[in-house]
Amino acid sequence: MLNVKSFSFNPFEENTYVVSTSNGDAIIIDPGCYFPEEREELDAYLKENNLKPLAIYNTHCHIDHVLGAGYVKRAHEIPLMIHKEDLQWLGAVKSYSTNYGFNDYEEVEHDGFYGEGDSIFSGEDELEVVFLPGHSPGHTGLINHKGRFCIVGDVLFNGSIGRTDLPGGDHDTLISSIQDKLFKLPDDYTVYCGHGPTTTIGKEKRTNPFCAVE
Ligand SMILES: [Zn+2]
Repeated sequence: MLNVKSFSFNPFEENTYVVSTSNGDAIIIDPGCYFPEEREELDAYLKENNLKPLAIYNTHCHIDHVLGAGYVKRAHEIPLMIHKEDLQWLGAVKSYSTNYGFNDYEEVEHDGFYGEGDSIFSGEDELEVVFLPGHSPGHTGLINHKGRFCIVGDVLFNGSIGRTDLPGGDHDTLISSIQDKLFKLPDDYTVYCGHGPTTTIGKEKRTNPFCAVE
């Protein structure tokens, strides 16, 4: 059974996740740790639980989700995996990082691409990759059926949806990603969001003011 640990990092209160198997293999999703104490918190968790980080997977490449990518990649000597449609947004982060006050943003390069049809881990631990564009053009999500959860970055939030006014965003595409893909999952699946608390597919289907379908 997979274990999901969440952290809230940087002034955007971005959720970074560590997903690990029972034998200690781990992936880090959206490392947003910017301040030294945030990096220490992440590393302490990995160490205390004897986890072996294998790779970073980014749901997308907006600044708040990559503020710690350079550090984590270097410190743990692991690759950064992104969707190819977000490559230009990863490259653009440095150009606007100082506008947000992140003068210490460390530029980071990807090491590989991943996308729908790929999977991470295997058997009951399989994380199925799903393509969820709209908030960014190369946004991905991860689904684990045994644990009945999905990790969705900035596509769907508890009571809200991802913004689509940033470059590369598209509202109709986002709604399609939610309704045609996420809402096809069973109602009891837990949704781990890129910001804020978790929710469930069923709750958002019924009550989300932006995309409810029931
Ligand atoms: Zn974002």
